[in-house]
This record gives sequence, structure tokens and C-alpha cells, in this order.
Amino acid sequence: MKNLQSFADLGLSSRILEIIHRKGFEAPSPIQEKVIPLVLQSNMDIIGQAQTGTGKTAAFGLPIMDILQDNSKSVNVLVLTPTRELCIQVAEELHSLKGKKKFKILPVYGGQSMELQLRHLKQGVDIVVGTPGRILDHLNRKSLKVDRLDFCVLDEADEMLNMGFLEDIEKILDFTNSDKRTLLFSATMPKEIVKVASKYMHRYEHVRVQNEEMTVPQTDQIYFQVSEENKFEALCRIMDIEDGFYGIVFCRTRLDADRIAHRLLDRGYDADSLHGELVQSQREKVMGRFKNKLINVLVATDVAARGLDVSDLTHVINYALPQDPDAYIHRIGRTGRAGKEGTAVTFITPEEENKLEFIGRKTKSTIRREKLPKIRDIIRAKKKRIHTDVQELIESELAHDLLPMAEKLLAENQPEQVLAALLKLAFAEELDRGSYNEIRDVQPVISGKTRLFIARGQKDKMTPKKIIHFIRDRVKIQPDKIQDILIQPEFSFITVPFREAELILKQFNTGKSGRKSLVEKARPK
Ligand code: ADP
Ligand code: MG
Repeated sequence: MKNLQSFADLGLSSRILEIIHRKGFEAPSPIQEKVIPLVLQSNMDIIGQAQTGTGKTAAFGLPIMDILQDNSKSVNVLVLTPTRELCIQVAEELHSLKGKKKFKILPVYGGQSMELQLRHLKQGVDIVVGTPGRILDHLNRKSLKVDRLDFCVLDEADEMLNMGFLEDIEKILDFTNSDKRTLLFSATMPKEIVKVASKYMHRYEHVRVQNEEMTVPQTDQIYFQVSEENKFEALCRIMDIEDGFYGIVFCRTRLDADRIAHRLLDRGYDADSLHGELVQSQREKVMGRFKNKLINVLVATDVAARGLDVSDLTHVINYALPQDPDAYIHRIGRTGRAGKEGTAVTFITPEEENKLEFIGRKTKSTIRREKLPKIRDIIRAKKKRIHTDVQELIESELAHDLLPMAEKLLAENQPEQVLAALLKLAFAEELDRGSYNEIRDVQPVISGKTRLFIARGQKDKMTPKKIIHFIRDRVKIQPDKIQDILIQPEFSFITVPFREAELILKQFNTGKSGRKSLVEKARPK
């Protein structure tokens, strides 16, 4: 892989490096590599363009936390995010990056109690993370002042555009001081956003992380949809159903790698972890043990696995999605080499379906969805393996020394009884269904359904009932097909089966270009 930059090369202070270390991040993502030095070492405004999941929050959060003084009386940083979920997520991520500094970080979004927000704002806040509607409310009421900002961050700008927030954003920017720095992040760069940028930003640097088209090696690629808490159980099942599993489990941080390796050890697997924290001699020891198959599962971070040259893996498991298509290729390229077959397995949570689809598209690969092996299938596979092993032992005559004991047992019992008792003695634990935890299938809940975004909310007097009318006025569908209705101040969400979603989208999508349609497929968080 091309970049081997470390966070320390980017100009961050040792205080921030320590925070990064504690978070378990090992190396900067490509967008972080480009944005962090620019924020620290220049005075420029920045447009950062990269796909979701590439670490854009830390790309601006880390350098801002490094620069920011904690002795100010006014709001220094305003971050605008499109949705309440992202608002909370960004506020939390920023919180995790502030270390011991006494920055007050406040998420401000519609739907949350106004009273509470007013109280917090009055007490003084350093960083406000908010959704446009509610921020504008506060600015109009003068409960929030943004005329002494150091930074204004427009996060997920294209999403904000999609949701019709552009006007609000312009109004908000009109409230801000012109000598602030503006950082704009977006996955795509529609012309409306470029317009806002040229109107409201000073000389800016446009950095982007390209997503080149890539080709993948011949590897069977499958994925499982599994909730975060069931991933570990899923991993065990995959390892157990295989004959001679020999693989790397990729996760995001050093802490994850250690945690998963420990859990595997606890469950009796020959596992170890490989991450950037190990000193060279430890690294070599772990890698040596893995190469010599003394351990058959290695839990690693992307960075740490770079130096590892093993080629005959049966499996690469993406316990967490890689940060970008590039990393995906790099990970799975370790299987299926030299004519040997390998399987790349990816775990995704239901919300990550679109990210995986993006990776599949960019890498031009087919990633097949499969169902996790059931406990009874694993037990069956294990029994078959025991059978083969016993057969081999008989043929090799390696158990000859125990024949006198066998004869004695047989003289006293029926042969089936003896064998069953021996199998029990040897494999009871291995063949116990109870050593597996149930995994609730997440499929039925989401499969076959689509989440739709509707550009009408409380401010349009929408209620769940009215949303149903709103849809059924235009499309003939059963009211009970509309589920999980969520009404927000400015917009709403509903969930409907695929077929109904198609009908609705067709009806509401007039195809007039430039016009924002009222109903759209909801974007993943
Ligand atoms: P984006 O805004 O680009 O969609 P996020 O900022 O939400 O992405 O980051 C996605 C996830 O990746 C978060 O859980 C974050 O903590 C994690 N992350 C960010 N940077 C790194 C890094 N350098 N190494 C490991 N994980 C990271
Ligand atoms: Mg983001």
C-alpha cells in the first residue's frame, strides 16, 4: 500500500497523539493524512471530499482540538450536520478527542428540548454541533452567537443539500464572522455546494481521496449481516464449520484486535493479535507462530498486517468494514493466491449495507450474501470431522498400543456402548450445542424493506396519520404497509416493503431536474 504515514508525521501535538493512541487508531486514513496538516499548518479554508466511513470527523476534529484554546468565553467552533443521528455521533466523536481539555461540546438538534439547549448555551459552550434548522432557530432568538468563530465546519454538505438545508446554511453563515476558517466535507461535490463554497469561503484547498476502480483477485467473497454484538459468535461459527481454518480477522483498532483475540483464546482457539503497538520482536514472534501454523487465527489491524506475507489463507474475515475499497482489496488479496481457493468474509451491520455495496461497485466484485451456519450444521460438520480423524487413526495403526485396553472394554460391554462412551469422553464439550450462543437473525426485520425520506415534517404539521394520508393520496397502498414512521421537525422517515417503495418513489419522482423530490430513499447514516 502506498501510504505508511503515521499520525506523528502530520504535525499533531503529543497531547493529541496520546489521545489517538488511547482511541486505538493506528494510522491516519487517507483523508486525515491530507486534511490534518492543512488545518494545522495553513490558514486556508478546506474542502475535503471522501466517502462515508473514511474518518472525516477525526480529520477535522483532531487538528481543531489541537489548535483550540480552552479559555474562551464564546463559541469557537460550529459544526453543521444534516441529521440528528449524525449530530449526536459527531458530538460524541469530538468528545472522545478532547482529552483532558475542558471544552464544552453541545449537540443541538430539532426534537430535543429547547429549554435544555437554552440552559446549556447560556452556561457557555465551546463547540456547538447542530442541525441547520435548530441552529437557525437559536440564532434568530439570539440564544446562540457565532460571530467569534475560529472554525465553521459543514459536515456531509451534500446530505444537507439533499435534505433541502442549503438556504438555512446560507442564512447561518451570514451570522458568522468572516475571519473564521471554514471546512467543508462532502462525499460528492454538486454544483450547488461549489457555489456556496465560492460565496462563503476564502481561498480554499480542495482535497479529495480518489476512489480508483480496482480489480480483485480470484477470491470467493461473501458477507453476513450480523449485529455488532453477534459478530463474535458469528466468527466462532465460521471458524468451526471449516475444515482447517487458517485466517486473519481484520478489525479497526488495536483495542478491538486485542479484545477479540482474548475472547477467542478464552473459547479455546489458537489465536493471537497483531497490531502496531507490538515491538518488533513481539511482532516477529506472533507472525512466526502464525506462519508455522502454531496459531490458526490472527486478529489484526490493517496497518499491522501490512508486513505479513502469508499467502495460503483459507479465510480473510472483515470483522469490521475496511475504511475504503482500497483497503478491502488489500485485505482480501491475501487469500486465494497461487491457485489456492480462499474465502473473504465480511460482516456488516444492517446499516452498513450501502457501504458494502459501494465497495463492491468500486472493486467490481460480487459479494454474495449468505446465511450464518446454524448450530446444528456446525455440530454435524464436527461429527464428520471426528469420523474422518478416527478412520485415519485406525488406518495409520498409531493407536495400536491401546488395543489391549480396547479388548478389555469390549469383553465387558457392547461395542456401540464403548464407542459412544469414548466419544463422549473425548468430544462432549466440542459437540455441546450449549457452547454456542443463539444469534437472532437480523434479516426478517429489514430484508425486503426500504426506508424512505420524506421532505415534510412537524413544521408542515405532519403527524404519523397525515404522513399515511400524504402517501396514500398519491399511491394506492395498504396503510399497514407503512411502518416505523418517524416525524422530525423538518422531515420524516417511513419504512415500506420494496414493492411499495418502488411505487411511491415512481409516483413522487417527477423526474424534473433540479427539483428536489418530496420522497427519496433514505441515505444510510
Ligand atoms: P465519515 O465521517 O468519513 O463517514 P467517521 O468520521 O464517522 O467517518 O469515521 C468512521 C469510523 O472510523 C468511526 O468509528 C471512527 O472512530 C473510525 N476512525 C476514524 N479514523 C480512524 C483511524 N485513523 N483508524 C481507525 N478508525 C478510525
Ligand atoms: Mg461524517
